[in-house]
Amino acid sequence: MHALWPVSPPLVPIAGSREGFPVRRIYCVGRNYVDHIREMREGDERDDPFFFQKPADAVVPDGAKVAYPQATGDFQFEGELVVAIGARCRDIRPEDSPKAIFGYAAGIDLTRRDLQKVSVAQARPWEPGKSFDGSAPCGPILPRERSSGLDAGTLVLDVNGDVRQRTRLDLMIWSVPEIVARLSDLYTLEPGDLIFTGTPAGVAAIHPGDCVTVRITGLPSLTITIQEQL
Ligand code: MN
Repeated sequence: MHALWPVSPPLVPIAGSREGFPVRRIYCVGRNYVDHIREMREGDERDDPFFFQKPADAVVPDGAKVAYPQATGDFQFEGELVVAIGARCRDIRPEDSPKAIFGYAAGIDLTRRDLQKVSVAQARPWEPGKSFDGSAPCGPILPRERSSGLDAGTLVLDVNGDVRQRTRLDLMIWSVPEIVARLSDLYTLEPGDLIFTGTPAGVAAIHPGDCVTVRITGLPSLTITIQEQL
C-alpha cells in the first residue's frame, strides 16, 4: 500500500539487449585527472580524488533533449567514463573489482559551475552545483564481457562537432579497479549503481541549441542536445 504512486527506477538501455539497467544510485569521482585539477586551480593536486552523489532520477538517456537548468548562468559539460555495478560488493580489493562490474558507458557530469564554485569557496557540499534534474546523461551500457581495450582507450567530447575534451583513460589518478575498491570501503555497492569516474581538462559552458557528444573507445556514443530553460 502506497500513499502516493511508487516511483520506478530510471532505466538505462543496455547495448544489444531489450532489457534496461535499473539505476539505484549515482556516484561520481571528483578530481580524477591532473589536467582538470590544474585548469580548475583548486586545492592541492596531490590530494586524493573523492566521491559525491547525484540522485538516480538525474539520469537521462542517449538522444535526450536536456533543458538548460534553473538557477545558473554557467552550465558546463564534463565527459566521463561510467562504470555500471552488477553485483553486491563491500570492502573488495581492486583485483576483485571485475566481478562487480556489469559494464561501461559514456557519460556527462553536467555541472552548474557557478553554484559549485560558491560551494567550494564556502566549504559547503557540492549538491547545488552537481545534483540537479537531468544532470547525469548516460549512454547505452556495454556489458563488460563484450568490452575490450578500455585500458588503452580514449575519451573524446565534442560540442557541435568541435573537440573540447580528449584524454587517454589510463591518465585517471584512480583507475577503475581502484575506484570500485575505494567506493566499496565507504558504501555497500549494489546492482544498479553507476559510477561517473571523473573528467579531464577542457570543461566549458554550453547553451541552448548546443549538441554534446561523448565517444569512448569501444563503447556506444552518447549525444544530448541542450534546450531552452523550461
Ligand atoms: Mn565530474
